[in-house]
Amino acid sequence: MSVAKPKADTLDAFFEACIGVVGPRHFLQDADAVKPYGRDWSGAYFRTPLAVALPSSTAEVSDLVRLCAGHGIPVVPAGGRTGLCGGSVPMRERAALVMSLERMTAIREMDRVGRTVTVEAGCILETLQDAVAEAGLAFPLMFGAKGSCMIGGALSTNAGGSNVLRYGNARDLCLGIEAVMPDGTVVNGLSALRKDNTGYDLRNLLIGAEGTLGIITAATLKTLPQPLVRTTAFLSVSDLDAALTVLHRVQDHTGGAVEAFEFMPQPVIDAICTYNPAIRSPLEGPAEIGILLEVASSRPMDAQLNEEGARALEVDVLTLLADLVEKELILDATIARNDQQRQDLWTMREMVLEGITHAGVAEIFDISLSLKHLSSFVATAKEQAARFGFRSLVIGHLGDGNLHYAVMGAEGQDPADLPMDAMRAAIMDEVARLNGSFSAEHGIGQSKLDQMLRYKDAGQLAVMRRIKSALDPQNLMNPGKLIPLASTEVGTGRSWQP
Ligand SMILES: Cc1cc2nc3c(=O)[nH]c(=O)nc-3n(C[C@H](O)[C@H](O)[C@H](O)COP(=O)(O)OP(=O)(O)OC[C@H]3O[C@@H](n4cnc5c(N)ncnc54)[C@H](O)[C@@H]3O)c2cc1C
Repeated sequence: MSVAKPKADTLDAFFEACIGVVGPRHFLQDADAVKPYGRDWSGAYFRTPLAVALPSSTAEVSDLVRLCAGHGIPVVPAGGRTGLCGGSVPMRERAALVMSLERMTAIREMDRVGRTVTVEAGCILETLQDAVAEAGLAFPLMFGAKGSCMIGGALSTNAGGSNVLRYGNARDLCLGIEAVMPDGTVVNGLSALRKDNTGYDLRNLLIGAEGTLGIITAATLKTLPQPLVRTTAFLSVSDLDAALTVLHRVQDHTGGAVEAFEFMPQPVIDAICTYNPAIRSPLEGPAEIGILLEVASSRPMDAQLNEEGARALEVDVLTLLADLVEKELILDATIARNDQQRQDLWTMREMVLEGITHAGVAEIFDISLSLKHLSSFVATAKEQAARFGFRSLVIGHLGDGNLHYAVMGAEGQDPADLPMDAMRAAIMDEVARLNGSFSAEHGIGQSKLDQMLRYKDAGQLAVMRRIKSALDPQNLMNPGKLIPLASTEVGTGRSWQP
């Protein structure tokens, strides 16, 4: 494949024009300054950007995109670069300008009456959550990268995380979007309306588009009542079917108040404790099927204290869990008695990626399945992985059917010597057979292009290509990502690899 490179004189004129838009301080060309923008958190892809533009307003983003279109220069939008699929990294085959939204951090409006917040794309998720909390409300998108990822990136990947079960993913929390399209047109869709049937839904087209159809510059998001009380527990159950029965029982009992139901088996906990010895396994015995359960309520009556100083929700959940222990659905359980104990459980959960990476995981599949298929899938996938000489580690957002299925070589075995491609195909074919998704929440980027070719419905892919070429006829907006070439196998064909 030829490596496209803009001509030097074109580039000089382009750079000069970009500097005219953002000023020299906010147009990075120095090798050291641009280098960090050449990779994302996965570290699996690297390409030094031509330069990095740091616009401060939607008008500047629009002017820069117009310049890119005029000079035929590809542009790659970037947020916190915590993505795991190489989406914010220029393709090796195509030199590109990186446009980082990091200076666009303003919270434009906190509407307490409509219970919405309008925020610029470069605002860090956790910063937004803190600001919303100060207003007595909550923005519930929750995952390990919340301290670094940005709203534009979270929307562009339609991020999920631990609370999807209750609140949905980024798409479900977004009411309106402002974006700059590939020709520089600004689309102002910052509607806070819950009902607005006035044609094609550009907001939903841009969410999850991974920056291939335009650059999100701001969004209007839903905010929710702040939970007044949370009960967090760690459970050990006998198998996945029992875990799902427990989930449904807790949901039925609490009126759907489960915020998180995270699957963490003992080998994963052991990997985390080895990686960070300050972390303790939550139960005394091993939890072959360990579950981090969190239930939350914003009802004042659930937060009321009894004579022993326990909150009503905690008493209620404890009573239910005790009943489930008696029925032998739960083998062992511990409840967080204070904020610190809750925080310890979540610190352990949020260290999963680091822990299993440290343990030598070779690849992590980000898949989703109907709950009814989870148990049989895990059994079959384990067999398939073992057939090719791999061990499996399974974690995930069990409550919404999203598993992060990780594989590593057998003890003392270098995974590079094992038939990785054949193992991957066997596992992914099984996911496809069960009508699951080969990419539940991390997106496609450049890491799963061949899986798009192999598993995405051909009709859907054809329409996606038509949408892409209609909106971006020069193929300059994050080219090469998300949509595979029709005939060529591009990308590495791998899911995220440490
Ligand atoms: C420790 C850790 C835990 C994680 N846990 C989860 C999890 O539980 N659930 C989950 O869903 N994800 C998880 N992720 C990955 C998640 O996708 C990202 O963290 C986040 O959503 C991406 O935001 P970002 O700002 O870092 O985007 P980036 O990585 O910068 O970009 C991601 C993609 O979005 C595009 N993009 C970025 N900004 C814009 C914009 N303004 N307009 C248009 N396109 C844009 C980029 O071009 C790229 O294609 C995790 C990542 C880490 C490192």
